[in-house]
Amino acid sequence: MSENVSSLLYIVSGVLFIMALRGLSHPTTSRQGNMYGMVGMGLAILTTLVGHPPSGVGAWILVLLGLGIGGGAGAVIAKRVPMTAMPQLVAAFHSLVGLAAVAVAAGALYAPQAFGIIENGHFHKQSLFEMGLGVAIGAITFTGSVIAFAKLDGRMSGKPILLPQRHLINALLAAGLVLLLALFIGTESKGLFWLIVILSLVLGGLIIIPIGGADMPVVVSMLNSYSGWAAAGIGFTLGNLALIITGALVGSSGAILSYIMCHAMNRSFISVILGGFGGDAAAAGSGQVETRSVKQGSADDAAYIMKNAERVIIVPGYGMAVAQAQHSLREMADMLKKEGVDVKYAIHPVAGRMPGHMNVLLAEANVPYDEVFELEDINGEFPQADVAFVIGANDVTNPAAKTDKTSPIYGMPILDVEKAKTVLFIKRGMGSGYAGVENEVFFRDNTMMLFGDAKKVVDSILKAV
Ligand code: NAP
Repeated sequence: MSENVSSLLYIVSGVLFIMALRGLSHPTTSRQGNMYGMVGMGLAILTTLVGHPPSGVGAWILVLLGLGIGGGAGAVIAKRVPMTAMPQLVAAFHSLVGLAAVAVAAGALYAPQAFGIIENGHFHKQSLFEMGLGVAIGAITFTGSVIAFAKLDGRMSGKPILLPQRHLINALLAAGLVLLLALFIGTESKGLFWLIVILSLVLGGLIIIPIGGADMPVVVSMLNSYSGWAAAGIGFTLGNLALIITGALVGSSGAILSYIMCHAMNRSFISVILGGFGGDAAAAGSGQVETRSVKQGSADDAAYIMKNAERVIIVPGYGMAVAQAQHSLREMADMLKKEGVDVKYAIHPVAGRMPGHMNVLLAEANVPYDEVFELEDINGEFPQADVAFVIGANDVTNPAAKTDKTSPIYGMPILDVEKAKTVLFIKRGMGSGYAGVENEVFFRDNTMMLFGDAKKVVDSILKAV
């Protein structure tokens, strides 16, 4: 296959990836988007294998083994992983992208002839730059993603670990990296290459360790962006157009998503990238003991209140995902609609544990899309609502975000559920949400707590309605 044909096919797969991203931007087209992505990736792999076939049987066996083991493990993991564990899975996969970038750069350094990046015994300067930068981003992505995985998976405390002088240390490490990169390009030293790897591994860990749970969604998407740039770096080293396009798409879409999430949580993008943002307050906010009493209700009470309501706004959160209550919830909403109640769903941009988490679950339960509203489109409707039905959500309804400057979630836009006539709160106990802070709404006069597993409570309400 000529270079022109393979470049053309890589561009076609690039277009398919763009169509995949476009499709994934809405629940109705997301399956189609996934399909475009798979076809694009299949085409890119085939083009590479036909355009640059592995030399010899041994190389073919290695490639096919890699495809089989990687593809097989990916398929099994994707089938088995629960939706609630998706963020840590994404973090774990990002770490592999980072590691791959390190491996490819090391491969290029030790076998430069295979990559065509050496002439008269000297590397091309541009290739040294790509290798050095790619390996640094890859190693930072690797340790950063491993720590994000450990925090999200509960293998490491979600609380920020605040190292003294961390910003200074990070800045010195980053400056050290730039210096090492310049020396590596000048000297072509393999020792300096591995020093870059070690320094980047340390920096990746140090950037993520101080970040607290509430900022983790931004971190995961930021690492997504890093892994994309690392892949684009490998693409330049390998001279592979598909990898450059894919890496740039992942890098820029991850960065845009990070920006959108920062905006949704009122966090500064730069301070998240520098690490440690929000950590101090998050650490201070947890561990309070609450002694005030709350008003508790039963499923019958909730059914009675909602049947007699004109407008009900449902606010789903992480607890709905844990309990898998979305199907029962839709049945409950259908029943209420039959009773003449106007039912809407309000989705906070960071409800649950990954972007779009609630949208995916509601779509799975066949909730009509025109009943689902984003925060900015529905927040003004709470004062007119008779009931705000909060199911397994907590942080995203916490008014401390508006009033308490010391709160780790201060400044995050929240759903104004407390403005509804009655707030029904389903949760198992008085536990706090992800950010570890008390929610004042539990103690308000217009709030009724419905304690129990979200699915069981909704099933009981369903019977009572
Ligand atoms: P949340 O603040 O984590 O609160 C979830 C609540 O659900 C908990 O208070 C818990 O209370 C309750 N719960 C858990 N299991 C339940 C069950 N089986 N039945 C009933 N209730 C249950 O959730 P959120 O309001 O959705 O807010 C999301 C938080 O996660 C934000 O702080 C956000 O920054 C963070 N985050 C978001 C993402 C993202 O991308 N969306 C990613 C990572 C982190 P009990 O224990 O008392 O039941």
